[in-house]
Amino acid sequence: MALQTCLKCGSKTRKPEAKFCDACGASLTVEQRDSTLAVAKEFISDSAKEATEQFKDAARHPAAKKIAGGAALGGAAGALLPILTVGVGAALVGGLVAYKQLTKK
Ligand SMILES: [Zn+2]
Repeated sequence: MALQTCLKCGSKTRKPEAKFCDACGASLTVEQRDSTLAVAKEFISDSAKEATEQFKDAARHPAAKKIAGGAALGGAAGALLPILTVGVGAALVGGLVAYKQLTKK
């Protein structure tokens, strides 16, 4: 096991199995995992909200609901992938639905 680096103060622990930071006492195990998960959750929900808000403005158009639905689907699908792809997924699916609506007529 490698030495762990404290997220709070940046100091390295002397014991690989240490659960708390030698210098500041911060938890090295649970808090690290929880904060990463919290950031990921926040990022996903923020991206989904952002995508929804963007398409709300265009809600008067008949095709807008389908576009917004596509963006939501893309965001949901993106949530299953690494977190950075969420925005890309929403943009891709939203753009695809928009493209279909514009070219169908
Ligand atoms: Zn520390």
